[in-house]
Amino acid sequence: MGVLWLDEVDKDDVPIVGGKAANLGELIRVGIPVPEGFVVDGKTFMDFLESSGLKEKIIGILNSINVEDTKQLEEASRKIREMIESTPMPKDVEEEIKQAYRKLCEESGEEVFVAVRSSATAEDLPGASFAGQQETYLNVRGEDEVVEKVRKCWSSLYTPRAIYYRVQKGFRHEDVSIAVVVQKMVNSEKSGVMFTSHPVTGDKIAIIEAVWGLGEAIVSGMVTPDHYEYDRVQRKIKVVKIAEKKVMLTRQDSKTVKVELDEEKSKARVLSDNEIEELVKLGEIIEDHYGTPQDVEWAIENGKIYIVQSRPITTIREEKREEEVELEEGKVLLKGLGASPGIGIGKVKIVLSQDEISKVEEGDVLVTTMTTPDMVPAMRKASAIVTDEGGLTCHAAIVSRELGVPAVVGTEKATKVLKDGMVVTVDGDKGIVYAGAIKEKKKEEKPTVVAQAPIITATEVKVNISIPDAAERVAATGADGVGLFRIEHMVLGLKKHPMKYIKDGEIEEYINELYKGMKKVVKAFYPKPVWIRTLDAPTDEFRAMEGGEDEPIEANPMLGFRGIRRDLREEEHFRAEIRAIKKLVDEGYTNIGIMLPLVTSPEEVRRAKQIIMEEGLPLDKIEFGIMVETPAAALIIEDIIKEGIDFISLGTNDLTQYTLAVDRNNENVAYLYDETHPAVMKLIERTIKICKKHGVKTSICGQAGSYPHVVEKLVKMGIDSVSANPDAVQRIREVVARVERKLMLDKLREKELENIPE
Ligand code: PEP
Ligand code: MG
Repeated sequence: MGVLWLDEVDKDDVPIVGGKAANLGELIRVGIPVPEGFVVDGKTFMDFLESSGLKEKIIGILNSINVEDTKQLEEASRKIREMIESTPMPKDVEEEIKQAYRKLCEESGEEVFVAVRSSATAEDLPGASFAGQQETYLNVRGEDEVVEKVRKCWSSLYTPRAIYYRVQKGFRHEDVSIAVVVQKMVNSEKSGVMFTSHPVTGDKIAIIEAVWGLGEAIVSGMVTPDHYEYDRVQRKIKVVKIAEKKVMLTRQDSKTVKVELDEEKSKARVLSDNEIEELVKLGEIIEDHYGTPQDVEWAIENGKIYIVQSRPITTIREEKREEEVELEEGKVLLKGLGASPGIGIGKVKIVLSQDEISKVEEGDVLVTTMTTPDMVPAMRKASAIVTDEGGLTCHAAIVSRELGVPAVVGTEKATKVLKDGMVVTVDGDKGIVYAGAIKEKKKEEKPTVVAQAPIITATEVKVNISIPDAAERVAATGADGVGLFRIEHMVLGLKKHPMKYIKDGEIEEYINELYKGMKKVVKAFYPKPVWIRTLDAPTDEFRAMEGGEDEPIEANPMLGFRGIRRDLREEEHFRAEIRAIKKLVDEGYTNIGIMLPLVTSPEEVRRAKQIIMEEGLPLDKIEFGIMVETPAAALIIEDIIKEGIDFISLGTNDLTQYTLAVDRNNENVAYLYDETHPAVMKLIERTIKICKKHGVKTSICGQAGSYPHVVEKLVKMGIDSVSANPDAVQRIREVVARVERKLMLDKLREKELENIPE
């Protein structure tokens, strides 16, 4: 059977029907109303290639080209796609698709509009959307059209990007296939999105945004949607904000058109209480089913709710903020939606067109109608973002949350009320913009019934940090220092790739940027130690930066040009980092440790030390150590210790992936990723034991350092410190204290037993 109805498939069918179809099938199974449809499975496509004789021709073409040559790649893609699109399908397959389409039309008695989408099958799944294989054709009507679009989806398996991606990932062209979903289109009266839980904090608050007509208007920011919040614990609608929705998108024949709305309709509330409650119920079923909060697209047609798409929310912060900052009273200039939490203070810069983007300087408040992708570099620099339009899922909201920049969206008139150069305070939690720089309210001491002494542990509890601007807040956790300062985040936020600074002869500017960021952290924690890790830059993560085009394309960046091996090849860069650190030491900040990432040999440590000394950085004033995050480092730690190190820190994130051969970025094998696997624990135990013998301090800064059950084991092994995520510091401190007390008690009891006469 080449054609399967969506209600006949589930997650086990991913290899045949692809991820998209399987996901829809899963939703139907748990009772979610999904628009009706069918899927043309991947085997049908394979058979088509075989029976038409295209397979050999395609493989022949693909094997004869060099994919690094863009011209050749494009020409091959064009040829193959043309062949597929002009070769008729086997009659029986064509008839099967047409019949299924006719069945879809039966109920309404006329030819219905359908969406035709490719559904990537297993091998390609994780990167498929990047490879451009998620071709979608909307508003398709008529059986011939449907057949033609199915063939177009098939041919989209051979876009230049898709071919390139497969070669890069090492997939055989012979093995890949594609399925195609054909699904009835909902011509919605109302539609929108729903986060089943809060997209930033993960709290059980469902957030719904709604507009009239089709939902595409929301993401583009064309319309500011109504905004509703439903408290899933108290089972109550908590917020109803009705926006002025001046236009809507709707379908007329096969075109999407923009329609102006009259005053009454534009100001009318889109969803009733009942509809909100019904949507939340559906959202809860989906969240329960997948076990994680979901970002759901929904539509309502003729009063019936349909779920069109559901995917996991990726923006929930792991590091929950300690608590919301309270501001002193101030003059409110604007109100909107708090789209990205935090407080930002700065000078207003109004950006109304692309050529004004460059006005935005470090620390300014970027004010615009709606942000666009080319504003991202400016958004990075901003201390806050304020927009006229948009809801919680518009571009400004999504990007600012990911960048961690406070944002208020949908103020309607920020670009009119605010003026260039005005100083304002933006409260991204409450969605308010105040005049001037408002101070934080002094926190009232919370009354405690019994005064509690601070927990002091023998094992130090430190904290991991990556955003210098968060240093003060993170230092307030009372952590015993920073066990890992990842500088990647800071470097990714710079205006260009580090090597581009160097190529452009601007190394001093780069050193200064590093120095400024590092100083924020070192100062906030002074005199507690801050272990600064030198850059660990995987090629794929740095490619998007200006000047990042030269990053080599690697089949597996996790095993590639990153960590200390990279810095020793790009020595100028390593020297720049050392010079930035030297500036701090020269200023008297000696609470610093230098930590090398991804070490695999004593030679790397020796060479790095040599360079540090050549730069005149006094290693006797600061600490020097390495990350143990490769089995190699763990297994020859005694040889590395001979090079002279003060400490090691266990990077369990990488140590686990390299020990278990489980790429930490590969969803297909995520279920095998286990930091407590006996092999990983053995490497850890060995490392701690040998380091202790040689007087080298031991620590952990991988994610496992925030897990109580792992920390318990490490304390028993005698680790000197544990570095946790900011939100886990207090909990880990309690765990450490408990384990230490228990160890002490056990010792005492042992002694007492020894003293009892036989
Ligand atoms: C680790 O590998 O455990 C680690 C802390 O480094 P990162 O997660 O930055 O690779
Ligand atoms: Mg690592």
